[in-house]
Amino acid sequence: MDEEVTKEEACVALHLDHEKTCWGCGLRLILSSYSPIFKCGWCGAITNQNKSSRKPDSICFSRWRHLRDWLFVTILIIFKLFVICAGVWAVYPTIFSISYFCGVFHCVIAAILSVCTFSSFCLAAFRSPGEPLNILWGSYPYVGKDGLENYTFCEFCAKPKPPRAHHCRSCTICVLDMDHHCPFIGNCVGASNHRSFILFLISVVVSCVYLTVMTSYAGYHVWPPIDYGKFSLTELNSLGSMSIVKQIVVAVASSALLLPGRGLVLIYLTFASISVEIGISVLLWQQLNYIYAGNTYINHISSKDSLHSDRGCHNLLRFFGCPQLGYRFLLGFGNTTKLQESTSSKLL
Ligand SMILES: [Zn+2]
Ligand SMILES: [Zn+2]
Ligand SMILES: [Zn+2]
Repeated sequence: MDEEVTKEEACVALHLDHEKTCWGCGLRLILSSYSPIFKCGWCGAITNQNKSSRKPDSICFSRWRHLRDWLFVTILIIFKLFVICAGVWAVYPTIFSISYFCGVFHCVIAAILSVCTFSSFCLAAFRSPGEPLNILWGSYPYVGKDGLENYTFCEFCAKPKPPRAHHCRSCTICVLDMDHHCPFIGNCVGASNHRSFILFLISVVVSCVYLTVMTSYAGYHVWPPIDYGKFSLTELNSLGSMSIVKQIVVAVASSALLLPGRGLVLIYLTFASISVEIGISVLLWQQLNYIYAGNTYINHISSKDSLHSDRGCHNLLRFFGCPQLGYRFLLGFGNTTKLQESTSSKLL
């Protein structure tokens, strides 16, 4: 008799200790052992009890982030307008002096690059990065079988968060396939604007290469004649290499003092475009690497699992929206089935 009572108590204790409620469908789940992270067998929602309950951000914090973003965006727009106006003012007299046709041709090139850069910037900055759809949750009759498969709960938004989505504390929303929050566009880079962001980076790199070439060419033409001093070629040969370099630097620096305002602007634009070009190229290379790996930056730093190990060019093709014909042509008919599977499994 005593033994039966003990067994009953043990069962009751087990029932109380390991009974949990699924946040997704509201069903009570009996777990075989204590588990801080568990998945509902009905709706597929994941409950993580390890996460300490997060408080909403203060109003000051949110305002500071908005202010910072708008400051960066404003500075970036002003800088782009300055570069375009200063570039036209400094380079075009030299270009038009070659020929009228040459001048018009470069006007068209500059206009195309400017439009591409501004339009991709606007799409990346002012378009929604991709919010999860509102779906039914919290009540068993309405949440179907596997209706919340691998969803977690966002404590900031107080609603379901799909897999590969992350909450952005600056935008105060959950973002699908979030890559990162970029203060320079004042927006998150997510499923809806990631392509525009990459096109913006490509436009910036191409524009900067063009600007470097044009400003270098114009700068060479407006540079005053360099006076290498009283040294003849024979005398220079008799000097040490350091003396020759010093002589050349002094000569170039002396001539730079005679540069007109247009020349100074050209020097600034050359160095600025090279700096931006290097910085954005590194960022673009990093982004393309993540896309090639079928991953995002935030997933890369937040999870070390091999969930996104499906690396390959097909990820790049799918990202840039190449048609199915392109897949077949580039990858062969054998890979088509695999591609279709991977396309349907991802949310891009
Ligand atoms: Zn559930
Ligand atoms: Zn959220
Ligand atoms: Zn954001």
